[in-house]
Amino acid sequence: MYGTRGGADEPRGACAASCGRPPLREVAAWIDCAPVTRALLLSNSANHDSGLFEHARDAVAAFVEGVREVLFVPWALADHEEYAARVGAALGALGPRVRSLHALAEPAAAIRDAEALYVGGGNTFRLVRTLHRLALLDPIRAAVARGTRYSGASAGSLIASPTMRTTNDMPIVQPPSFETLGLLPFQLNCHYLDADPSSTHAGETRELRLREFHEENDVPVLGLREGTWLELSESPRGAVATIGGAAVSPLAPGPAILHRRGQEPVELAGDVSWLLDAHPRFDAPRT
Ligand code: ASP
Repeated sequence: MYGTRGGADEPRGACAASCGRPPLREVAAWIDCAPVTRALLLSNSANHDSGLFEHARDAVAAFVEGVREVLFVPWALADHEEYAARVGAALGALGPRVRSLHALAEPAAAIRDAEALYVGGGNTFRLVRTLHRLALLDPIRAAVARGTRYSGASAGSLIASPTMRTTNDMPIVQPPSFETLGLLPFQLNCHYLDADPSSTHAGETRELRLREFHEENDVPVLGLREGTWLELSESPRGAVATIGGAAVSPLAPGPAILHRRGQEPVELAGDVSWLLDAHPRFDAPRT
């Protein structure tokens, strides 16, 4: 359970799992109560010119090992049938049956009994709007806390963060809130793109966008380059977080980069369990 890793942390407020959903600024309180036994958070579901999950085949196969059925969350794309068929074929080839939530009359009940979830990528605003509309954030949190394995790609990974504020997407629809699952005490940025030093493009670089995020929020952001992922698991000493995969871009210095307020970005690889001790502070403008 986060917040008890190594037993060194101070208690961080009331248990949100038993006293209701926390307001956004209190999202860290929920995180203390949100153990994730197993999660696989892919930056992207497919590399350029390769099939779904091919770049992460071993990690995905290990994740679904022993799982009879994966529940698929398809709402980041508009065509749920087509999306479910594609994901069903790719995950099905690794063993489990795949059922898509859009086809179920009672998605919350299905989530309650799920062995594993896979949340597909696409537009984060659309995905988050539907999860709020159907009131599925709490059922997912509760299922994950009980041991349901959580996996996602891109938007599906990003929503393991406390909020969707570090998405790269356009707001094509309006969710009632930017709050997401809060399975992690920090933010992800997927498809992380390094600035091209030879570019004359005048729009914001990813780094600049994240610097703007840090002008308003004091929350670490882990940028996962394409081809990489973050894996969470439990060990006798507590939760373990590991960066896996390899950046697709030959120019990338490593798989992942961490941006924090007031600090130079740092390259990260391998065991990053210490990140699970982060204390996110949203809506904390830099003074
Ligand atoms: N649109 C991305 C995805 O594939 C999400 C992102 O870039 O933030 O899900």
